[in-house]
Amino acid sequence: MTDTSPFIQWPPSLLPAEEDALTLLATTYALSHGLLYLPVPTSQPVPPAPPSAIHAPLTILPTPFPRHLFERVQRVQRVYSVLYARIAQDIPFLDRIMGEEGVAKVDDFVGPLWRGWKQLRDEGMAQPLQLGIYRSDYMLHAPPGSTDAISIKQVEFNTISSSFGSLSQLAAAMHRYMYASTQFFNTSKYFQSSNFPLNETTPGIARGIAEAHKAYSVKEAFVLFVVQEGERNVFDQRMIEYELLEKHSIHVVRLTFDETAERSVLDPTTKALKVKTDPYPDPIEISVVYYRAGYTPRDYPTPAQFATRVHIERSRAIKCPSIALQLAGGKKVQETLTHPGVLESFLLDRDRWGEEHVFDQADVDAVRETWVGMWGLDFNGNEGVRKAREGAAGLVLKPQREGGGNNVYTSDIPAFLDTLDLREREAWIAMEMILPPQDVQNYLMRAGMGERAILTDVVSELGIFGWALFGEGGQEKSRVKEQDAGWLLRTKGRDSNEGGVATGFSVLDSLLLVD
Ligand code: ADP
Ligand code: MG
Repeated sequence: MTDTSPFIQWPPSLLPAEEDALTLLATTYALSHGLLYLPVPTSQPVPPAPPSAIHAPLTILPTPFPRHLFERVQRVQRVYSVLYARIAQDIPFLDRIMGEEGVAKVDDFVGPLWRGWKQLRDEGMAQPLQLGIYRSDYMLHAPPGSTDAISIKQVEFNTISSSFGSLSQLAAAMHRYMYASTQFFNTSKYFQSSNFPLNETTPGIARGIAEAHKAYSVKEAFVLFVVQEGERNVFDQRMIEYELLEKHSIHVVRLTFDETAERSVLDPTTKALKVKTDPYPDPIEISVVYYRAGYTPRDYPTPAQFATRVHIERSRAIKCPSIALQLAGGKKVQETLTHPGVLESFLLDRDRWGEEHVFDQADVDAVRETWVGMWGLDFNGNEGVRKAREGAAGLVLKPQREGGGNNVYTSDIPAFLDTLDLREREAWIAMEMILPPQDVQNYLMRAGMGERAILTDVVSELGIFGWALFGEGGQEKSRVKEQDAGWLLRTKGRDSNEGGVATGFSVLDSLLLVD
């Protein structure tokens, strides 16, 4: 492959009998190894112990991806991990962007979160350490007709509930197995074992949680997973739980916000979070709270769930993430980082971080190279909106939300801008569209769709996982312990704008690296 657009024609041609054979291998591997979802419930109430599962949506073949671009974003992950740790500890910055002066003023999701955090800061925080399990999401950028080399651009940086680590490890293992079994019928020169990168997300993510647990220094404490009621993506979470028990001897308890409210207490002196959990007679101390919920307003149907979030945040448990780190992952922060000098201040300022903790210009350039143009809709009076109207065809608008289904794309933008009131502009950013390579297809397979894989024009989104443990707990402020933790490739039909696997738009895939 040359380093220019167009990218690569994919997939190689398969005979119908080969397609059928690969479909059988893929689905059977998925069912055998826990690459699973819970099915949509058919009756209420949903039984507490599920009687069955379905295979996760997946691709029959891996998707080609330029090796040098994959390696580039893997390298830059360390810089991002430290960057977001520093943002989460920069209270004046977060107050300005996400607080009462900024997004919290106009947004009824960010508002209560920020106010809860502010209240706790005034009381005095019990736990300085914070854990981030991050996923930085990217797409290949290859504008049609451009002679520029294909590049890789960041979609967003997730600081809460970064999901699909475990299932992604299994999807990569599934494709590697299918290659070992069939060589994919020798239909492409790219099918070679050195092109299937390792993917060890489950041990990586569990190691991050285990490090935080160790730093908490109460060996017999449990880790609390805060989860959504009716979550279908439970196996992705359970794999991390099993890894914690098997490799680190750490127990996990899973509770929703409402269950946490019912079953937990704070020790008034130590601020230890303790949870009543069967079969133990006494409440168990919690070392780390790992949120797989709490990122969307749907998780807070009444003020009670916000109160529970604040109750957990008040505790001495290490939060993954803290409210501060969740706010740091806001789209408005992502946009603000592109303003002149902001990145330099977080990465290069010797007075802020000390000589041994500053990065170099090449790191700053590498981060900046992953960005497309962004601005706030409140930019310079009416200019932000005017630019968005004029450039609508090449833009996506994003509010301060996570979890998919919230963005406004291209031709929908002008009508949307007509309805957006002046105040709300502050919560929205405009972002240039990333334009992934064309002529890429893959076989998408969903359970219950007649068990046939469907050949479709696709685009893929690469997520790079990493974790970071940081805070002032006896350490210097600039110290961040971090490690990368594997990757995720999600692929969706080209005509679908949104990327969430769980929302049904995209499927689990894996990388086939090409040079
Ligand atoms: P969320 O927090 O809801 O996941 P994202 O920023 O990840 O929001 O956007 C959701 C989806 O929209 C992405 O997975 C991607 O498919 C698409 N998308 C977002 N930003 C862009 C962009 N700049 N160019 C092209 N597609 C985008
Ligand atoms: Mg996303």
